[in-house]
Amino acid sequence: MSAVMITRKVRKWEKLPGKNTFCCDGRVMMARQKGVFYLTLFLIVGTCALFFAFECPYLAVHLSPTIPVFAALLFLFVLAMLLRTSFSDPGVLPRALPEEASFIEMEIEAANGNVPAGQRPPPRIRNVEINNQIVKLKYCYTCKIFRPPRASHCSICDNCVDRFDHHCPWVGNCVGKRNYRYFYLFTLSLSLLTIYIFTFNIVHVVMRSVDNGFLNTLKETPGTVLEVLVCFFTLWSVVGLTGFHTYLISLNQTTNEDIKGSWSGKNRVQNPYSHKNMIKNCCEVLCGPTYPSVLDRRGLMQLSPVSEFSANDTDASPCSSSTDSSNSSKTLPSTKRAILCLHKPRPPPIRNNPTSDDLKASITDTAHTSPAHSQAEESSAAKTPPLATPETDAEASVAKSH
Ligand SMILES: [Zn+2]
Ligand SMILES: [Zn+2]
Repeated sequence: MSAVMITRKVRKWEKLPGKNTFCCDGRVMMARQKGVFYLTLFLIVGTCALFFAFECPYLAVHLSPTIPVFAALLFLFVLAMLLRTSFSDPGVLPRALPEEASFIEMEIEAANGNVPAGQRPPPRIRNVEINNQIVKLKYCYTCKIFRPPRASHCSICDNCVDRFDHHCPWVGNCVGKRNYRYFYLFTLSLSLLTIYIFTFNIVHVVMRSVDNGFLNTLKETPGTVLEVLVCFFTLWSVVGLTGFHTYLISLNQTTNEDIKGSWSGKNRVQNPYSHKNMIKNCCEVLCGPTYPSVLDRRGLMQLSPVSEFSANDTDASPCSSSTDSSNSSKTLPSTKRAILCLHKPRPPPIRNNPTSDDLKASITDTAHTSPAHSQAEESSAAKTPPLATPETDAEASVAKSH
């Protein structure tokens, strides 16, 4: 038997499940549907180009040369914030590996005991205490993990995202723990840019109309009408959106939690993440620590060397994987088999450890899914802190149209 060693570098992003797309060798990460993102880019760049072409030369001479300079700086900032939001990992949580998932399943089944046929098994939840509030961690049937508090599964990207806010088609990405502040700065700066262009368009038309007349001005600068229309309709939505997110930030709340009413006071539930102080909440959301991506997208996967066997050899490797070898096997002759052993260093599958947000929180695992425990929990509900439900049973995705 002859064996030829074939090595192939595989980066982790190439094997990530979910519906994200990657480019620049995993450096750029977006949702699969990007059509609306291109429209956003086109509207911003197009409107600014018309402004620089038609209004800026006149305003720089007749009013102030700082007008185009400030517009250019604001435009670059808006673009930088948009690309930072769109091209980054929003805080995707890695799925459990098959062996980790089967271990969790075994644990859950052992805790449930024998559920009689025809009866629904108890819901898969675990409780953690955060700032004296009990928060339920729900099990994600797709990712096979207990989601951390505030995480939710985006059905468009098909991933669990930490501190999930919403999926934004305008930026072509989820908005979550790692890109929320850039998303907010994008909406804030875009509001300012829209107001700025709209105002100076009006000023330009008024100044020129004094000399040339209104109709002649519109004929000389045909881009003005288009700019005013785009800015007028953008103003309402973008300024409204910025106001809404300012309100959410002041409460340290996400769009997802706001829509579901997670902390609306039902069942005496209060938001355990709020500092009860608007300034502190704003500082935490906008100036708090940045979090590294846990996906390690550009990390190399540890692949065992691919061996070529003769046709009558048997598969002796316990690590053979039909799914993972699907891509590689296309490049090999049909009579030869590629066996890949994928060993990814991963964090533990049950992520009920506190995030940095929750460092103050003491976590007690009061789970549980066994009927005996459930009954005990129900009977002691009056004594224990109120139950918070950050997620509904349905896989959550707030596809928000701004
Ligand atoms: Zn999930
Ligand atoms: Zn998404």
